[in-house]
Amino acid sequence: MDFDRIKEKLNILADAAKYDVSCSSSGSKRKNSNKGLGDSSGMGICHSYTQDGRCVSLLKILLTNHCIFDCAYCVTRKSNDIKRAAFKVQEVVDLTISFYRRNYIEGLFLSSGIFKSPDHTMERLIQVAKKLRKEENFNGYIHLKSIPGASDELMREAGLYADRLSVNIEIPTKSGLKLLAPDKKHEDFMKPMKKVKDEIIQYKQESKLIKSTPKYAPAGQSTQMIVGATGESDRDIMYSSAFFYKNYNMKRVYYSGYVPISTDPRLPAIGTQVPMLRENRLYQTDWLMRFYGFDIRELLNDSFQHLDMEVDPKLSWALRNRHLFPLDINMADKQLLLRVPGIGLKSTNKIVQARKYRKLNWQHLQKIGIAINRAKYFITCDSREKELKDLTSEQLKQVIIKTSQSKFRKELSPQLSLF
Ligand code: SF4
Repeated sequence: MDFDRIKEKLNILADAAKYDVSCSSSGSKRKNSNKGLGDSSGMGICHSYTQDGRCVSLLKILLTNHCIFDCAYCVTRKSNDIKRAAFKVQEVVDLTISFYRRNYIEGLFLSSGIFKSPDHTMERLIQVAKKLRKEENFNGYIHLKSIPGASDELMREAGLYADRLSVNIEIPTKSGLKLLAPDKKHEDFMKPMKKVKDEIIQYKQESKLIKSTPKYAPAGQSTQMIVGATGESDRDIMYSSAFFYKNYNMKRVYYSGYVPISTDPRLPAIGTQVPMLRENRLYQTDWLMRFYGFDIRELLNDSFQHLDMEVDPKLSWALRNRHLFPLDINMADKQLLLRVPGIGLKSTNKIVQARKYRKLNWQHLQKIGIAINRAKYFITCDSREKELKDLTSEQLKQVIIKTSQSKFRKELSPQLSLF
């Protein structure tokens, strides 16, 4: 093996892969049942993030950065004058196994530029995963990128070896895609997504009847959208997201602030700040939609198309809906408690449990751990003295920002922080 050449390829193809943030490995339960290598059901798998929030504990590489397409937002686009490289299938297999044995990684995240055709590329990605599973007995985590436009048959095969599959939609709207990636069709993304969804359902149903049914993409599928490359509003982005969760059983939608890499007039100029805070607010909105019972239309709609960057989306919603508050902490419905700024999922459960035995007061709430500095304006407890009824929503927002300064300063950092 020519180690210098492999090292050079690794430099090029790991660097090219860093723009893809959709690599969380949560949700897979693949066991080491054949005395092979690895076990993706372990706790230590892949939740390590760099300073800018990107996952690093998988070997995250492209098979190649050659590409026949010319998507304006992508560093790998064919018109970009960059150094190109391509791994052989066996090289990726060897690297994965040797890194795994050295404890550098716990799995593989493999994507690729499209060379020759979507099917040709997809076939080679599958070959890597198949060799790892069949020849190396590798049970560690494998996330394969599905190539838009790949055939149904290949998508079916990919899920038999990968824990997670993802097709990155990249641009949230059809019009944005047409503008920046005219070679690509919206259907090229939807078709593999639908195939993966259908196969997951079918394999699950079969496994109820036949125990030996193999697992198909046990960690489900995910997608990624680039934020800030085109003029989409937060509403456009989150409506697309809601559509994917609902119609394609997405495990996760990832939001990736656009990193300016091109002088193309259709895109933000080089040097434009990466919209990390916006990315954070979108993740918070996504969380509210998936775990807090919010309908996306409550958070974003025609008259409120952009998230408030000064405060998190739950506080922003509460400030726009003050007629629903204050809630009596000892009486309010659990679903409504979840909507109080400063009260998270765990705290809500603790409140519901605790109030079965006693009437809660402010000290109890403090012990439960709710963020009283925010919640106090939206709840009543044993007294109503903490309400600031005479303030307008904007005034109240400023009071909260002032008294929560450190928290909101922290949110300006790139790290994701949820409520
Ligand atoms: S097809 Fe994928 S790799 Fe190729 S230019 Fe478009 S986004 Fe980049």
